[in-house]
Amino acid sequence: MIDLFSDTLTKPSPAMRHAMAEAEVGDEQKREDPTTNRLQQRVAELLGKPAAVFLPSGAMCNQIALRVHCRQGDEAVIDRSYHIVNFEVGGAAALSGVQLRTIDGERGMFSVDDLKAAIRPRGTLHLPLTKLLCLEQTTNMGGGGVWPFEQFRAVSDAARDAGLAVHLDGARLMNAVVASGVPASEWAACCDSLWIDFSKGLGAPVGGVLAGSAEFIAESWRFKHQFGGALRQSGILAAACIHALDHHIDRLADDHANARALYQGLSAIPGIRAEEPETNMVFFHVDGLGMDAAGFIAAATQAGVRFSPGAGPARVRAVTHLDVDAADIAKALEIVGDLAAARV
Ligand SMILES: *Cc1c(COP(=O)(O)O)cnc(C)c1O
Repeated sequence: MIDLFSDTLTKPSPAMRHAMAEAEVGDEQKREDPTTNRLQQRVAELLGKPAAVFLPSGAMCNQIALRVHCRQGDEAVIDRSYHIVNFEVGGAAALSGVQLRTIDGERGMFSVDDLKAAIRPRGTLHLPLTKLLCLEQTTNMGGGGVWPFEQFRAVSDAARDAGLAVHLDGARLMNAVVASGVPASEWAACCDSLWIDFSKGLGAPVGGVLAGSAEFIAESWRFKHQFGGALRQSGILAAACIHALDHHIDRLADDHANARALYQGLSAIPGIRAEEPETNMVFFHVDGLGMDAAGFIAAATQAGVRFSPGAGPARVRAVTHLDVDAADIAKALEIVGDLAAARV
């Protein structure tokens, strides 16, 4: 099976497993796990923030950030395609009492005017208080898109001018860094809190690291305990993340090249319309084959290549990662080509 379902599928490499087995460990909750402490410091430096905290998942990074930035009844402005809105089980409402106000962006990106229109005027008792802007990079359901840096900064500046904090879901920020050449710390300077995921393209089994000011991270530790995310000998996991920082960032360029090859191949197949990729995701439309996404995915899986649904009736997502190479992409294209030829 050639598995293009998600970059979450990556398995720890032998070298990563070795680093995990050798990790020095201690009690994380007492801040005595040296490897976790080192990871937090590495990510804080990478992102140019004073502090960072290791968490078991990206979803928990987002949920803790919402909890720290907002009070119950506050509003957060966010694009309608983002993970926080669609794939976190209503956590913003359930865990923090936060109301999400969505923007209809394009590929998960929007303008300063779109943002301004979504921010509630202050000075009346009837309206919710707009407290937070949530951004996503790369935009996942938006197509693995990378915000143009100037647009990202302008939107962040406008939010801050209006008194909002800015949180970045940077699950795949490092893909954006590799694709754009803009360092992580420059994106991070536009944000009050942000995190990167280690269990996606970076290839570690578990974990995200959330960064921000010393006060923000001190508050985040309270909710890490409250949400059940405080750990013990987490150095075994942090060692995998440190290994990923050292060995798996530059190679994201290979995933991007494989995505481009996949896009070019798909575009040459009659009946398929593919969206041009910027990073490691290729979204494509299969209505030209007379199929919907579910039917296409089932048929492709049967034939040996797995895709995921792409948020749309006939939109399919393919994600390249550490465990697929150029030969796998060629094979996947052959399979899809045969499948399409049988339909049109
Ligand atoms: C995967 C993902 C998350 C959640 O991360 P987990 O580590 O799976 O909890 C959040 N945001 C985006 C954009 C993601 O792709």
